[in-house]
Amino acid sequence: MKTNNHKTNSFSKIYCGLFGHNYIVSKKITYHVKEYSCSNCKHELTTNGSGNLVELSPKFREINDILSRIHKKKITRLSRNVISPTVYRMSS
Ligand SMILES: [Zn+2]
Repeated sequence: MKTNNHKTNSFSKIYCGLFGHNYIVSKKITYHVKEYSCSNCKHELTTNGSGNLVELSPKFREINDILSRIHKKKITRLSRNVISPTVYRMSS
C-alpha cells in the first residue's frame, strides 16, 4: 500500500526530471554562498568553495553554518573599521 505523500513526492521528482528543478534561495550564507531549495520536490543545493552547485549534504550544512557565523563576524568587524578612522581623525 502506497501513501498519498509518497505519490506526490515521486510525481514532483518526475516533474523536475522533465522540466528541471525550480530552485529558490532558501538561505544566504555569505555573499557568494547560498542554499537553494526546489519548490517542487524540496531537493536542496548549496554553493561550495569553488562556486559550483552541489547537493546539500549534512556535512555541507555544517560547513555553511560555520561560514555564516564567520561571515557575520566579518560584517561586524568591517562596520567597526568604517567608523574607527573617523573617530581617529576627530580626536587628533
Ligand atoms: Zn525539484
